[in-house]
Amino acid sequence: MTERGLLIVLSGPSGVGKGTVRKAIFDSGEIDFEYSISMTTRQKRAGEEDGVDYFFRSKEVFEQLIEDGGLLEYAEYVGNYYGTPLEYVEQTLSSGKDVFLEIEVNGAKQVREKMPEGIFIFLTPPDIMELKSRILNRGTEKIALVEQRLEKAVEEIKMMDHYDYAVVNDKVENAVTKIKHIIESEHLKVPRV
Ligand code: 5GP
Repeated sequence: MTERGLLIVLSGPSGVGKGTVRKAIFDSGEIDFEYSISMTTRQKRAGEEDGVDYFFRSKEVFEQLIEDGGLLEYAEYVGNYYGTPLEYVEQTLSSGKDVFLEIEVNGAKQVREKMPEGIFIFLTPPDIMELKSRILNRGTEKIALVEQRLEKAVEEIKMMDHYDYAVVNDKVENAVTKIKHIIESEHLKVPRV
């Protein structure tokens, strides 16, 4: 029987740089795990591609998938849906490969309930003011959304207790190295009978 792969969940507050860290991990090319592409109802941003960055779908399609039980988790985030297609995750784990999710905290909580054997990593900002300026400087969101995102971030930071690991995102390269070490160490764990 093939040994099931590990499910790795990277989460953390809005604006902490989850997407940047995730991209840096996959761009480094030295990894042995698969990225689960999320589905979203939000508008595509410049440079984003369907089936690469996200599966961009209508609200109707997304809601149908929720009803059909086709999502491992989903969350509504700043007015849009985001979710993880279940089939891809299941098939990949069953084939013995590790799966990497990069999702917001409410979704991570649902995954923790459904797949508690997963490895849950919380990416934290060095401090909250830096977080605020990172959100402001991103420039892709309307300023009106900033306060809403920041309030949400304060709540999210309190959620760290539900994770196995906390990684400070002081520098992207440091966070990437630490996350890779976590995954390597998890593979070295002695299996319990
Ligand atoms: P963005 O719109 O900036 O791409 O993503 C907004 C937030 O949604 C980020 O915190 C990102 O991690 C999160 N996100 C992306 N995909 C998923 C997903 O499949 N499920 C959940 N719950 N959150 C997601």
